Order: sequence, then C-alpha cells, then structure tokens
Amino acid sequence: MNKTDTFIHGLPLKTTPSDGAILDVRLDAARNLYNACLRESLRRLDLMRESKLYKSARELPKGKARNEAFNACRNNHDFLEYSLHSFATKTCKTCWIGDHLDAFTIQKVATRAFGAVEQYAYGVRGRPRFKRKGWFSSVEGKSNASGIRWRDGRVLWNGLNLEPLFDLKDKYGVEAHSLSCRVKYLRLVKRIIKEEDSWFVQLVLDGLPIQKEKNTISMNTCGLDIGPSTVAAVGENDAFLSQFCDEVVQPWKEIRCEQRAQDRSRRVTNPDNYNDNGTVKKDSRKWHRSNRYKKRQKRIAECQRTLAATRKKQHGEMCNRILSIGNIIKTEKLSYKSFQKNHGRSVTVRAPGMLVTQLIRKAANAGGRVEDINTRKTKLSQTCICGTVVKKPLKQRHHGCSCGVKSQRDLFSAYLAKHCTDNTLDIHQAKSAWSAAEPLLRRAMSRITETANCGRLPASFGISRRQSCSPVENGSIFIEVADVVACRGESREEMHGLAVRTPWL
Ligand SMILES: [Zn+2]
Repeated sequence: MNKTDTFIHGLPLKTTPSDGAILDVRLDAARNLYNACLRESLRRLDLMRESKLYKSARELPKGKARNEAFNACRNNHDFLEYSLHSFATKTCKTCWIGDHLDAFTIQKVATRAFGAVEQYAYGVRGRPRFKRKGWFSSVEGKSNASGIRWRDGRVLWNGLNLEPLFDLKDKYGVEAHSLSCRVKYLRLVKRIIKEEDSWFVQLVLDGLPIQKEKNTISMNTCGLDIGPSTVAAVGENDAFLSQFCDEVVQPWKEIRCEQRAQDRSRRVTNPDNYNDNGTVKKDSRKWHRSNRYKKRQKRIAECQRTLAATRKKQHGEMCNRILSIGNIIKTEKLSYKSFQKNHGRSVTVRAPGMLVTQLIRKAANAGGRVEDINTRKTKLSQTCICGTVVKKPLKQRHHGCSCGVKSQRDLFSAYLAKHCTDNTLDIHQAKSAWSAAEPLLRRAMSRITETANCGRLPASFGISRRQSCSPVENGSIFIEVADVVACRGESREEMHGLAVRTPWL
C-alpha cells in the first residue's frame, strides 16, 4: 500500500446513554484484546531474544547478512505483525471479545500492540505496559468498507448508527473541505470532558487539510530559536520574539494541595498497605478509594485536560505565526531531554518539543520543511557576524560585540540560524544582510515593550520591568538577570555542549 497524504477531521458524536453503554463494552473488549496481544508479542520477543540464532546474529557486523539473520529469527519465532493478526482473530473466536468487535477492528488492535512491542524491541521506547480499565480510549477501523464506517454523514458500526454534530457556521469552510475528501477509515475516541463521557469520531481523510485564509504562508526562509519559554523567529520581512503558551497557567499550588489530600486519603483508607515508616508495602495490590478521592481525581484530570487543550491551541497559533514568516524553517537541534532536566516546570507547561513536532507537520503541509542545525558545529549563541566566537553566560540576554553589532540574544541567534546551510554558518551572507535585518530585529523588540503587560514579561527577554515600559533604544542595554537556573544550566552546557539556554522565571 503506498502512502498518501492524510489528515484528520474530528467531530463530536450525539450518543444516547444506551449507545454509550454499547460503546463502553466494545472499548473494554478492545482493551482486553490489546492486553492479550501485548502479552503474546512480548512473550514471542523474549523467546526470540533468548534463542541462539538471535545471539549469533547480534555478533555479526552491520550489513545485509546481519539483517537477514534477524529476519530469520523473526520468522522462526513468529514475531510478525500478520501472525499476530491471526493470533488475535483466533483469541476472539474462542471468547466473549469476538461478540463485540469486527474483523478489521481486531486486526487494528493487534497492529497497535505489535507496534508498541516492535518499538520496544528496537530500543525506541520502553517496555510497553498493560492498559488498565479506563486507560484505553480509542478504537479504529481499517477501511471504510466494513466495520466502523462512514455512510451519508453518519457513523455505522455493527448495529450502531451514530449522528455527528456538524459545525453549522463553518466560518472558514474547514468542514466542507474535509467532508469532500475521501474517507480512509474512522476512529472513535472517548474523552472525559467536564467529568462526563463524550464520544468523538475522527475521520482519517485522503488529501491535505485546508489552509484558512487568515493564516497566510510566506515562501521564505525563516530562522527560528526556541527556548523553554520563548520563541524568536526572523524572516525576510518580519521578525518577532514572543513567549509561547502564555495562556497556560498551571495552578501548581492548587494541584499540589489536591495531591497531598489524595495521599492523606489513601493512607487513611488503606492502612494495611503501608509500612511503619510510611513507605508503601511492595505487594499491596488492593487499594480502596473513597468517593471524595474519586471526585478529587476527576477534578485534577479535568484541570489537566483543559491545560492540555489550551496548550495545543496555542501551539497551533504559534506555528501559524511562524509559517507567516517563512515555510522553510531553520532551527537548532535541541536536546529536549536537557530542557526537561534544566527547566522542568517550564517544559511541563509549554512542551517545546510538541511545538516542534506540530511545526514539522504544518510546514510539510504548507510545502515547506524544518531543517535542523547542529548546535555544536555552528555555536549560534556564541558567534557574531564578524566571525568572533565569545561564550555568553546564560544571564546575558543581549548580544554585543566590539564590531558594533548589538541585538537581543535570541533574536540574533534566530537571525544567524536563517543564514545556515548544511550545518555551517554562511558568515558573509549574514554580514551583508545585517544592515537590512537590524531594523527588523529592533522593531520586534520595541513591539514587545509597547504591547506587553509590563509585569508579565519573562526575564529571558532581557527587558527589566522598569525599562519595559519605555522602548529600549538600539536594544543596547545590557541587563544582568539574576537567575539560579542559569548557573546550573551553564555548567551543563559546558560539560555536554548541549543547547541549554534562556532561563525561565
Ligand atoms: Zn562582531
């Protein structure tokens, strides 16, 4: 099967309580099947890894012979997607699961389990876990021919006939465009919204998603610099520096209070599961949860869900803003692991890695791409367009050089990223374009100081609160931002040469 362009359009479903009950049973059947398939594939993987053939294949040098030896191992131990399909089909025939699921759905569940184990086998992910009740929230079909299918604007599945809620206004024509595309297959998703079960259908469609008219795409090159909390982008005719996900305000204190209350409640209702020193006993399987505990758990989940939804929405907005500057995006390859280690809270709130993933997808849809630049080779945060390389401490938020070039640090490294090709910085190009770009960067800085709410600017912008109320001239003021994170981050940067920048306050 050749891969074609795919996009997804989601619609909420109108479900009666009896529809919901049937869907719940089917989802639980799919979950049980998933766990069975996972157990079986893990068993096959473990057997394969213990075999002599596998051990000798590992000794071989990389190349064709080694790959063939591994393939022989997979065949010997049936560690193959299609043999797992037949395992799943056989399992369903002998038990209750088969009464609730159709052949395509069964195969897709098996594929999902096998995919998880395969990634574990290749070392991409950790060992997959079994799904508890309520932790499995979607089922999908394989084609629109049978099983879960889309017919005349309704979802049919083995006796169920569900009506979706269409967007009657459809301001930008998104839904009209989506519904005119060919349906590849459907996915049903259960979400808990405002503590109530809601069902959604995702149409997996053939083609490209519509580009809203308000989101213009510029066919230029764009240099991008992503920090744990800020994004700087510099293009041909425009530049900006801004904080991302500023609407996602994590109520750290409130969540902490709720979690402490949960812990107290667990200890009171399950005194037998704890040792004398307060630690959990290792073999404690049975946990009682009070009704208030369950209520609180729902409240926390709802809070996290809203935050995630806001985050996703703001990521989308940021991607569109970047694409309006340029669709060929050049950015430093960041180590998100080091981000997580050094700026844990900020990463939890803003998820910069997720932003990049979305940007890669959106840029590809817009006919562009995201190019990674090697941080160690180019040293964008240390270099000047005159060629001097001077290391800046993290707290120094402005770039200033004896040759007279002055700019905000993040904007300047975004500008340099724009002039990188194949992991090398084209200094001559950067130098000759500087006179045209400098006013852009300066305007980007003054826009922040004019529009921003003075109190909410992050320290990494390099504008002190007092000064932020008046435009910074030339961006030439050096402001030392006291930051505890900076010292730790800096030493790490020194040690591993990782891109650790922009402190968060
Ligand atoms: Zn210089």
